[in-house]
Formats: sequence, C-alpha cells, structure tokens
Amino acid sequence: LPMLHTIKSSRDFADGGNSMDCLNTQQMKEMVLYVAQHMIENRDFLSEIDRKIGDGDHGIGISNGFEAVCKNLRQSRPASINDVFRIAGMSLLNSMGGASGVIFGVMFLSAYKQKEVILCTDVETFGREMGNSLDAVKLKGKANLGDKTMVDAFEPAVEAIRGCTGNDFAITLKEAADAAYEGVQNTKKYAASVGRAKFLNQRSVGFQDAGATSVWLIFKYMHEWAEGRMHDHAF
Ligand code: ADP
Ligand code: MG
Repeated sequence: LPMLHTIKSSRDFADGGNSMDCLNTQQMKEMVLYVAQHMIENRDFLSEIDRKIGDGDHGIGISNGFEAVCKNLRQSRPASINDVFRIAGMSLLNSMGGASGVIFGVMFLSAYKQKEVILCTDVETFGREMGNSLDAVKLKGKANLGDKTMVDAFEPAVEAIRGCTGNDFAITLKEAADAAYEGVQNTKKYAASVGRAKFLNQRSVGFQDAGATSVWLIFKYMHEWAEGRMHDHAF
C-alpha cells in the first residue's frame, strides 16, 4: 500500500498534479481559454446591459479583452499557473482599456502572483488566490459591496469558494457561480456610487451592473469547463 501511494504521488508530482482535486498548469490554461472563448460570445448581451446605465461599451471591452487572452494564451507555453494568470491579466489590461480594463486586468494579475511557482492548485489555494485578487481589485477600484460594481458578484463568489469544505472544483465553482449570480441580482437594488453609473445614482436602481454580470459569466464558464472535464476519466 505505501508503495502504491508513492507511485501515485510521484506521478502527480511529475505532471504538476492530475487528480480530481488539483488543477495543473495545462488544465488551468484550458479553463481560462474556455472562459475567454465564451466571454467573447457575450459581447452584445453585456453591451446591452451597459447601455441601460452606462455607455454601452462593456461588451466591446470584454470581447476585445478576452480575444487578446485567447490569442496570447494559445501562443504561449505557460510554465506555471502563475504564468497563466499573468498572461491573461496582461492581455486584459493591454486590450480592454478604460477603468474596467484595469479592474479586470488586476483581477487576473493579482491571483497567483507570488514568487513561489505553482504547478498545481487545489480548491483551498484557489480560494486564497481569488481572495488576493478580490483584495487587489477593491484596493484599486475603491469599490465595496453595494456600490453596484463587479465587486458585488466577485466578493460573494470568493466567499463561496472559501466556504467550500470539499476538494471538488466542479462543485466549488458551481457554488461560486451561483453566489455571483445572486450578487448580480442584488446589484439591481443598489444605486451606483462608483464608475460611470454613479452619475445616474438613484436612476440606476432596477438595472443590473454590467461588470458584475461579467464576473458571474466568468465563474459560470469556469464551472462549465470543470463540470465537463473533472468527471471524465482523464482526471
Ligand atoms: P467604462 O465604465 O469605462 O465604460 P466598462 O463599461 O467596460 O467600462 O465597464 C463598466 C463596469 O466596470 C461596471 O459595470 C463596473 O462593474 C466595473 N467598474 C467600474 N469602475 C469600477 C471600480 N472602481 N471598481 C470595481 N468595478 C468597477
Ligand atoms: Mg461602459
């Protein structure tokens, strides 16, 4: 029995982890690529939402941003999970433009940004890194829960991940996506006090926030990817 265990863990170590409860660099690259491909398809949906209380360009920013993520990630051979997030974040930062480009860029750039090379991430580490990302986003954008921004979806998603006791990415990401969705619904109640919609303030009540909607979609597609991959026997 100890022998078997040794063999299994050395194989896991060699490829940076390949079990149900750990995503390796290649899998993280695939997951982020899956998210990016599907975010692009939401261009019109997201712009329509932004048109109600913003300037109607959020879908353009998101699709430009995630097209760059696709292009740059496909061309790269990330050596670590740190690389995956750095490449995605830089792509968003350099292509989205505007305030939201910085916010969504920082969202990816601030996860897995430590010197320690991470080849494999479990749910617990993922929760910690999404927490670091949330802290950085809030510091950068100075928005808190209830300000009608992407934070209203991101914070509950991060809390859901941190609250997960299991090790299964598919289950964890489902909870994150559901929490983000609830956060999006909550933005309808809020008057915007940050970003472009703050000029509408009370008139923004009743409409959902575009950036929060994007965060929900990001977690929804992460979950979709995990659901499709985690349960097939390749894992
Ligand atoms: P812009 O406001 O420059 O037109 P977008 O339309 O692409 O940018 O994105 C708007 C979204 O960006 C908002 O719906 C909101 O969720 C998010 N956002 C804007 N400013 C901030 C901020 N300071 N902190 C967090 N999110 C923000
Ligand atoms: Mg806009």
